[in-house]
Amino acid sequence: MDKKKNLPLFSQCSAVVCDLDGTLYLDGVPFPDSAPFLNAVLASGRRLFYFTNNTSRSRSSYLHRLERFGFPAAEEMLITAADCTFQYLRQQQLCPEIYLIGNRELQRDFHNHGFRCLTKPEGDEGNPPRALVLGFDTELDYEKIKTGYQLLMQDIPYIATHADLLCPMNHGAFIPDAGCFIELFAAASGRRPLVMGKPSRFAAQTISDRAQSAYERIAFIGDRLYTDIRMAERFNMIGVLVLSGETSEKMAADSPDQAKIVVNGIGDLINALG
Ligand SMILES: [Mg+2]
Repeated sequence: MDKKKNLPLFSQCSAVVCDLDGTLYLDGVPFPDSAPFLNAVLASGRRLFYFTNNTSRSRSSYLHRLERFGFPAAEEMLITAADCTFQYLRQQQLCPEIYLIGNRELQRDFHNHGFRCLTKPEGDEGNPPRALVLGFDTELDYEKIKTGYQLLMQDIPYIATHADLLCPMNHGAFIPDAGCFIELFAAASGRRPLVMGKPSRFAAQTISDRAQSAYERIAFIGDRLYTDIRMAERFNMIGVLVLSGETSEKMAADSPDQAKIVVNGIGDLINALG
């Protein structure tokens, strides 16, 4: 497999969107080429964005991490699956009251974007929740599972921030992610949510809106086949798979999700900016 031959395609992009974990850093340590690449993107006059599906950390905690790593970091550069969810809930007028299954960091993000996260299925002060939102809740407890189930049985609109099954931790280990919680609620209620993060059309739309760019002019760089590359290819972005994260060369070759460009790591793209 030599998809490096497609590298010249990369120079056609006007916006670059980078996944975070496995793409720009691993085990909490940035790759040496990440900051030079990100600075080169900006120096070339292109727009730069970061995209993460992980909703267990707030936007501000991600921005602090990017800064700590010495990456260019401005509020508008960061797109999370929570941002896609805010946009959808507003468009559908499923606001401001919601029932959120998410940890305190995610609750703060929703609060900062004008949502009211209710604590009871019947709502607080007579305003019932307009939607059930399921995020990566690292503080999930039985009370939330029970309330979520009760709301699902009432036919409430049901939205998940993302559907990744596993979240990477240090040294190749993983922990269960929001996709596992989706299965739990599906087993109990028979219902499945509308999913907002990568690889959905909602994520693609949020990226295109933020980048003010057509899909064909957006390069999406990531290490996960069933989210990053699936979205990039589904919407005809310039999909770039990096083999620096969870995907091996063999997994990439065997997958139905085929990126236009495959490189070993982010540093291989520096000279391809043109
Ligand atoms: Mg990743």
